[in-house]
Amino acid sequence: MGQRFLVTGGAGYVGSHLVAALVDAGHRVTVIDNLRQGHRAAVPPAATLVEADIAAAEPVLADGPWDAVFHFAALSLVGESMADPFRYFAANAAAGMGFIGACARHGVRRFVLSSTANLFGTPARIPIAEDAAIDPGSPYGESKHMLERALAWADRIFGMRGACLRYFNAAGADPAGRLGEDHDPETHLIPLAIDAALGRRGPLAVFGTDYPTPDGTCIRDYIHVTDLASAHLAVLPLLDRGSVTFNLGNGAGASVREVIAAVEAVTGHAVPHRIAPRRAGDPAVLVASAARLRAATGWTPRLPGLRDIVATAASWRAAHPDGYGGR
Ligand code: UDP
Repeated sequence: MGQRFLVTGGAGYVGSHLVAALVDAGHRVTVIDNLRQGHRAAVPPAATLVEADIAAAEPVLADGPWDAVFHFAALSLVGESMADPFRYFAANAAAGMGFIGACARHGVRRFVLSSTANLFGTPARIPIAEDAAIDPGSPYGESKHMLERALAWADRIFGMRGACLRYFNAAGADPAGRLGEDHDPETHLIPLAIDAALGRRGPLAVFGTDYPTPDGTCIRDYIHVTDLASAHLAVLPLLDRGSVTFNLGNGAGASVREVIAAVEAVTGHAVPHRIAPRRAGDPAVLVASAARLRAATGWTPRLPGLRDIVATAASWRAAHPDGYGGR
């Protein structure tokens, strides 16, 4: 008999890929998602969907015990958080802390937090290790840092073990074609470049070509969303011994221009693009060191290649030109 897991934000992009992995492994899964950004169609029929805000999670938590809680539900756009910081502090930090407290009260022992590379602002050293200085690049990153701190106290006072997984750039789609990336509005590089190549949108805006990188565009660590999901399963056994924090990326960087080239190679179409000013809050280079995670768990990405990542994203997009088809 599988274990029983609660996933907030499980109808969203990364959360839904974890839910699929859990269901595929024979576990029982309940999703809490208000479906403001998530999609009903992204939750498999085998999972239970509770359409609610995390503020209303108390009855679901009371219906435990839960073998672990995975907390994905959040606003997640760096640029938006620079324009509206207190919306991010309220929705991510304040609501998240309420949820963490409710989990501790209801006896949850293992809690996995979706955290972010944006904690590191402009890092002094690349690749970025877990002990790099915390200096959030935006209110979004700050809101996740607040939750990491809250989890440390939940462990110290209530013994609820936390895993903080600092995602770098989640990308790609379920290789089986069941799930993909569908944001409204879409702001992420890979889906926008694919849509531009397929002629479904106007030219891609390249945000800055004057960064101190070899080709002048920003470098990011794109990690396949199913590899992100498998890391969540890999860290669970560690939580029986204590709380953990890991940076979660491929450990290799790609520039915006390299992503454009990969999309062109995969789709066979040019990516129409124009040079635009820098986007607020974007550091030049964010590349993870996943050495600690690999050493602790043996986890390794199965789809580390940029072309493989782009290919899964492009094939989902081609099969679902309108994404999940409305909210
Ligand atoms: N980017 C870009 N044009 C776009 C969207 C993104 O040039 O329309 C760049 C962005 O500046 C960053 C990288 O692509 O350097 C990845 O951005 P994305 O929004 O996909 O992820 P983030 O790094 O913000 O999590």
